Order: sequence, then structure tokens, then C-alpha cells
Amino acid sequence: MSDVDGLDDLLARAAERPRALARPELAALLSVEDESGIQSIFDAAYALKVKYCGKRVAMRGIVEAGNVCAKDCRYCGIRASNRNLTRYRLTQEEIVAGARFAAASGYGSVVIQSGEIESEAHTRFIEEVLRAIAPLKLGVTLSLGEQTEDVYRRWRDAGATRYLLRIETSNPALYAALHPATCSFERRVECLRALRRCGYQVGTGVMAGLPGQTLEDLARDIAFFRDIDADMIGMGPYIPHPDTPLAAEAADWSAERSLRLGLNMIAATRLALRDVNIAAATALQALDPLGREKGLLAGANVVMPNVTDVKYRAQYKLYADKPCLDENAALCRGCLQRRIESIGETVLWGVPGDSAHFFARTRPGV
Ligand code: SAM
Ligand code: SF4
Repeated sequence: MSDVDGLDDLLARAAERPRALARPELAALLSVEDESGIQSIFDAAYALKVKYCGKRVAMRGIVEAGNVCAKDCRYCGIRASNRNLTRYRLTQEEIVAGARFAAASGYGSVVIQSGEIESEAHTRFIEEVLRAIAPLKLGVTLSLGEQTEDVYRRWRDAGATRYLLRIETSNPALYAALHPATCSFERRVECLRALRRCGYQVGTGVMAGLPGQTLEDLARDIAFFRDIDADMIGMGPYIPHPDTPLAAEAADWSAERSLRLGLNMIAATRLALRDVNIAAATALQALDPLGREKGLLAGANVVMPNVTDVKYRAQYKLYADKPCLDENAALCRGCLQRRIESIGETVLWGVPGDSAHFFARTRPGV
């Protein structure tokens, strides 16, 4: 028996009526704590994942292109004020080498992620990188933070097809508590709109288990993903980093709760949004050796193996206990393939694995 009355009805409604769950219903789903109730939710979400994405997992090789960041998000290990790390920026050749490795490994897509830098030199550098990797014919996701619409357009014109910009939380008051006063919730939302106007497959997401975050906040986050009509969701559990101010406020943080919320968010998002791409974030694996597999069985369909040279990985620590710090990318490929096949899924080799939702909204009826 579940601790939410009418869970079976709720799941039946989610399966029958597309994108119909209301915020209180989403909060009810997220509140389920008993094992059998959670398993029913995961099973329903997984069935929708199989229906819309198949029993297949899309891969994106992630290149951590640099830990230089102008911002000071209070939760992030590479925030500008953290002096306990060596700053690095990959060269164009190093980023291209990561993309080449992703292509040779059959990943079909690459994600270029870094701290946030707004400058003409950086914009031009990324344009050059994008033009250099274009012949590899990969899907290319950027995750380079807030930029002007002009910059987003230039990177789109240079070959980027997707952009991931997590809203982090859709509660403006919580957003303000997590960021310095110079950051603006409204600008972040406007950036997501600008990305959409530029023709990207737009990804967003949040951290689950943040200090001060309620289940209602998380339900509102899923409604936000739906309202902004996101194509891709990249979200994961919040994990404290000791060199950040938020860690001091996370005294009652529990790995178990953050993991559970991270998985429940994947399942509830699949039930609410259906055909979007959802990543099983590496942070899940930091909390549980089987975290990514559990994410896939809760409704995720994307995994992002790290293809950054191991010598840089320890300097891109967003949170404590980041996994695979010393596992080179070739080992990582084999390990992930085994893990994915062990749960009865197959890897979608050599294709970009675009968001079905993007095609449904841009080419209806095709
Ligand atoms: N700088 C870009 C941005 O902020 O959009 C992209 C890189 S940023 C490191 C990628 C994501 O890392 C953020 O959106 C945030 O959700 C996540 N992150 C940062 N610190 C984290 C933490 N302590 N626990 C879990 N995720 C974290
Ligand atoms: Fe910089 Fe992104 Fe970390 Fe914020 S989350 S400090 S923008 S790298």
C-alpha cells in the first residue's frame, strides 16, 4: 500500500492524459516514501519512457571545458570565490580531442560545459571550437551559462544544436537565497526564452534536495519545465561542496533524501512531460554506485559519460565525491555500456539522440 491515497488513479491519469498533472498532484507523487508506492511510480514512468524513447539510452560525451567562472553561485564548487582549486581552460585542440573521442566511441553527441564567461574573446573561441568539430557530425550541446541572445545566435549559427541552462529552482525567493544579488532569476528565464527563439533544443533543470527547498517547490519546477516547453531536462541531486557557503546551511542534508528526491523528480517529470529527453545525472552516481542505472529505470533516457582528460577532472568538482575522477574515457565507455545492458537497455550508438519533443513541437504531424 502507498502513503498517497489514490496513487493508482493518479498514475492511470498520468498515463492517459498528456501533460495534464496539476501541481498538487505532482507534489503528491514526490511525497511518496514507501517502497511499493515509489516502485509503482518508477514503473509507470519507465513505461512512458519505453513508449516515447524505446528501451534505448542516448549518450553524450561531456567535455568540462574550463572551471574559470565569473559567478559565485553559493552551492557550486567552482564558484569564483573558491581559491582552493587550480583554474584551467582547455585549448581548442583539447576540446576537439574530447569531441573526436566522443565520435569515435559512437556517442553521437557531445556536451561542452564550463563556468560562465561573458566576453567577445570567449564567444569567438567557442565559435571556432564549434566550427572545428562540425565535420564530426555530432549533436552539439552547449552548457555555458547566461549570455546575450546575440551570442546564443552566433553559437547556433556556428553549429550548436542544443543548450542546457538549468533554472536551478523555479522559486524566485529560493533562487535569490542561492545566488548573489547580482544574479537575476528573470534574466535566467529570459535566457531560456532567447535560446528557444534562436532555434535550439532547449534544456533546463534543477537541483533536488537544496536547503530550504520544499516538495511544492519541486512540483512547481516540473510545472515550470512544462510551461517553458523544455525539450530536455538535466537535473540531479544537490550535493554539498565543503568550500561553498551553502554547505554550512546544509547541516541536515542527507544523501539518502537527495538521492530519493533526484530519482522521484526524474519519474514525476517523465510522467508530466512524456517525450522530453531526461538525463540520469552523474550526481546520482556520486550518491549511489548504481545511481545512474536507477535514474534510467525511473524514466531517464540519456547518460553523459565524461570525455575530459583525467588530469583536469579533479579541478571540475562542483560537489564532494564526484565519481570517475581517475577513470579514463575508454574505461568509462566500457563500464557504462555494461551497466546499461545489465538493466535490459541498449545504447543508441552513433546517432545524436535528439529530443522527440523538439521534433513534435517544431514539425507537428511529420
Ligand atoms: N556554468 C554553467 C551554468 O551554471 O549554467 C554550466 C556549468 S554548471 C557547473 C552546471 C550545473 O552544475 C549547474 O547548473 C548546477 O545545477 C550544477 N551544480 C553546481 N553545484 C552543484 C552541487 N553542489 N550539487 C549538484 N549540482 C551542482
Ligand atoms: Fe559558475 Fe555555473 Fe558554478 Fe554558477 S553553477 S558558479 S555559473 S559554474
